[in-house]
Amino acid sequence: MDHGQNSSQDSVAISMDAALRLATETVGPVLLPGEEGYDAECASYNLAVPQRPALVVGAARVADVQAAVRFAAEQGLPVAVLATGHSAHSSAGAVLVNTRRMDAVTIDVEARTARVEAGVRWQQVVDAAGKHGLAPLNGASPTVGVVGYTLGGGLSPIGRTFGFAADHVRRIELVTADGQLRVATATEEPELFWALRGGKGNFGVVTALEFNLFPVSHLYGGGLFFAGERAAEVFNAWGRWSADVPDEMNSSIALLQLPPVPEVPEPLRGGMVVHVRIAYVGSAEEGERLVAPLRAIAPVLIDSVTEMPYTAVASIHADPPFPIPIVDRSGLLREFTSELVDAIVAQAGPDAGSPLAIVELRHLGGALNRRPPSGNAMDLQGATFTCYAVGIGGPDQAEAIQAHLTRVFEAIQPWSTGRRFVNFLTAGDVTAEAVAEAYLPETYRRLAAIKGSYDPTNMFRTTHNIIPA
Ligand SMILES: Cc1cc2nc3c(=O)[nH]c(=O)nc-3n(C[C@H](O)[C@H](O)[C@H](O)COP(=O)(O)OP(=O)(O)OC[C@H]3O[C@@H](n4cnc5c(N)ncnc54)[C@H](O)[C@@H]3O)c2cc1C
Repeated sequence: MDHGQNSSQDSVAISMDAALRLATETVGPVLLPGEEGYDAECASYNLAVPQRPALVVGAARVADVQAAVRFAAEQGLPVAVLATGHSAHSSAGAVLVNTRRMDAVTIDVEARTARVEAGVRWQQVVDAAGKHGLAPLNGASPTVGVVGYTLGGGLSPIGRTFGFAADHVRRIELVTADGQLRVATATEEPELFWALRGGKGNFGVVTALEFNLFPVSHLYGGGLFFAGERAAEVFNAWGRWSADVPDEMNSSIALLQLPPVPEVPEPLRGGMVVHVRIAYVGSAEEGERLVAPLRAIAPVLIDSVTEMPYTAVASIHADPPFPIPIVDRSGLLREFTSELVDAIVAQAGPDAGSPLAIVELRHLGGALNRRPPSGNAMDLQGATFTCYAVGIGGPDQAEAIQAHLTRVFEAIQPWSTGRRFVNFLTAGDVTAEAVAEAYLPETYRRLAAIKGSYDPTNMFRTTHNIIPA
């Protein structure tokens, strides 16, 4: 897939002299295309969207980020940020700031908070907090970056119980377009604080984030796998069951096509299966009682639902931790009906000849419907499920995957809220219209006004761009 990297990359060239001048201000490396280390510095999780910026800065400290942003402003170039590349967008023609070296995590056990630097990934926080019986509102994947995830809302496997990660942020440190380091909290720069929590990477490079932790040391969780032929039955039963569960019960369901590789256990290898994921925040006894109707739907191929330490939460979704080429699309659904299931199974079920690896619904509701007192730029009202579908394949397969994604999302359109969840809005799918659909009109107007104050020349425009008012 070409997201326009080549054409714009060719049109921007930064001189070696300019790059060397910048390098005198940074501790981390400054690299131009073709230089040794450039490819490694640009390596990212989603191999379908290669990073080829005009220059990359491996930021090792806040001053490196400030130098990079000021340099981009002088050169009249946009700034892109790469933490892990889970939601990589084209950085062609941009100054790319790689944050992975900024990886400190501090836990305040008394205050039940964590402070992380920009490059920290979720498993680091899960492990550090877990030593004290605490849990963050981490993502499903252990290798997703804390900052990128939280700026886009952050839908955790325990989100129905506690809310979005963005609802529990206390303090954000960032470098804005003018190169200044600012602090945003509910009382300092409150408009910026509101916008950052849901407005994604539009307002600057976040250098550190402080957020709440929760007293969760164990879960009753894991996965139930059913044969793909039972997809309609299992989806329907799960949908009916999810309507009545308490907020402590978090779940999702996915049609999976797993590759024929030895890492995949035998009954699942090389075929289509239905994967019901459970994360119950409560006792194993109550969890077992609540999950019993799911176990009775059909013969269970693998049942890994059990009491587990919270530090094992990543095993519930079991997302691949290594880089893969992802072509994906997402939507938000109003309601669950048997006709919705028919539409999904017709397009992606065992007889559909679908090239998609995952078609997933996550159950929303509960605390995800409640906004924090300081408010934030999260607008998922009216949505009861997310739908996310992904194909895994290089450039030769991208077109076929895109065509199939279009068929799936056209088929489920009658159940769509017409809105989008920013975190699931990735490179192949992000357009000005799609970004606008992520927010209520009044939210978008407020975001655009704040963007106009902090980034009037739209330097931070390479991802989910909000146009400055
Ligand atoms: C396998 C997988 C599982 C996922 N699971 C979940 C999930 O459970 N829940 C959920 O909500 N989302 C999930 N996501 C989506 C994920 O939250 C987004 O892809 C998120 O943007 C990843 O952030 P990152 O820093 O890891 O990725 P990157 O690609 O490095 O960054 C993505 C974007 O985040 C912004 N960003 C990152 N760091 C900064 C910074 N320091 N300052 C300013 N902007 C920054 C930039 O706009 C950047 O382009 C998942 C994605 C994948 C691929």
